[in-house]
Amino acid sequence: MTILLTGIGLLATQDAELGEIPEAALVIEDDRIAWVGAASSAPAADERVELGGRAVVPGFVDSHAHLVFAGDRTAEFAARMAGMPYAAGGIRTTVAATRAATDAALRVNLARLRTELVRAGVTTFECKSGYGLDVATEERSLRVAREFTDETTFLGAHVVPPDIDRDDYLAQVTGPMLDACAPYARWIDAFCEVGAFDGDETRAVLTAGTAKGLGARVHANQLTTGPGVRIAVELGAASADHCTHLTDEDVDALAGSGTVATLLPLAEFSTRSPYPDARRLLDAGAAVALATDCNPGSAYSTSMPLAIALAVREMRMTPAEAVHAATATGAKALRRNDIGSLTPGRRADLVVLDAPSYVHLAYRPGVPLVAEVWQSGTRVA
Ligand SMILES: [Zn+2]
Repeated sequence: MTILLTGIGLLATQDAELGEIPEAALVIEDDRIAWVGAASSAPAADERVELGGRAVVPGFVDSHAHLVFAGDRTAEFAARMAGMPYAAGGIRTTVAATRAATDAALRVNLARLRTELVRAGVTTFECKSGYGLDVATEERSLRVAREFTDETTFLGAHVVPPDIDRDDYLAQVTGPMLDACAPYARWIDAFCEVGAFDGDETRAVLTAGTAKGLGARVHANQLTTGPGVRIAVELGAASADHCTHLTDEDVDALAGSGTVATLLPLAEFSTRSPYPDARRLLDAGAAVALATDCNPGSAYSTSMPLAIALAVREMRMTPAEAVHAATATGAKALRRNDIGSLTPGRRADLVVLDAPSYVHLAYRPGVPLVAEVWQSGTRVA
C-alpha cells in the first residue's frame, strides 16, 4: 500500500542531504517513507492526498516528559505567579496523590496527555516515572508508561521523599527499586540539583542503572551551575537536560561529546526564570534538542510548537534550528535513527502545518497550526 502526499508547499526533511524542498511530494509505503522529492517528478501511488501548498515537517520528538502522575497543583502555580520562587520540592504534593491513585486513574491521565501531545504534532514521546518514590509506585508508574511508549525512564532519583532517611532511599533507588523498574524502563535519569541529588549521588544512581543495561540521561544545571552536565558527559549519557546555568567548561564538554543538550523552555516560561542560552551552545558546536518537560509542577504544557516559538523568540535560535532541535536532535537525544527526519527508510511520522512554511511555528506563536499528524504511515490527527 503506497500513499502519495503531494502539493507540499515546503518539505523540511531535516536530512542533511535532502534539505528543504519547495513544491514537494512524499510517498509512504506501509509504515515507512519510500520517496521524497519534487512534486513534478513524484512516482505513482495507490492513493493520492493533495495538501494544497501546506508545509510538512517530521513528527515532533518529545524526548523529556513526566506524564505519570495524579493530583493538581493549580494553587502552587497561582502562588508562584503571585511572587513565590520555584524550588525543587513541590514534587511532594504530586507524590502523595500518585501513591494514592489507582493504575486506572494514572492510565486515564496519561491517555489524556498523549492525546494532547499528538494534537500538538508529537509522534514519539519519552515518559519518566518519579512521582512514586517507593518501590511499588515507581514500578507501576513505569508499567503504565510502557503501555504508551517504548521510551520509558526510571526517575526514582527525582527527590528524596520526606518519609525516609536519605541514605536508605539511595540504597533503594540503586537496589530493589531499580530491580523492580528496570524491566519496564529503557533509561535511567537523576535530578542533579541543590535540593535534589548531589554529584556523587547522581553518579551512583546512573552507574547502577547502566550496570542494569539502562541508558543514562540527566536533569542537569536547571536552577544552578553544578556537576550535572560534566557527569552526563563523563558517563556517556544520551542527554543532559535543562542546561540553563552552564560554565564555559560545561559548554566545551557538551560540544566535544555525544551527549545532547536538551533545552526545555516551557519550564523557564512557566516559572518566570531566565532561559538557557541556546546560541552559545550551538555556536560552540553542541547538539541542541527541544522538549516539553511536561509535568504538573514547573511546565504543564504539551505544546512543542510553543517550545519552538519560545526557543526562537527568547533563546536566539533560528526557526530552522528550532524545528531541527524538536525533530532530528530530539531523536538523537533518544539515540533513535528510525525517526526524526523525512528520509526514505525512516518511519512515516510527519506533521502537516496550516501554513506555507515551518517558520510560522515561531512567527505565529500560540496559533494551532498543526493540521494533520501522520504516525507510522497512518493519519492519527
Ligand atoms: Zn524534567
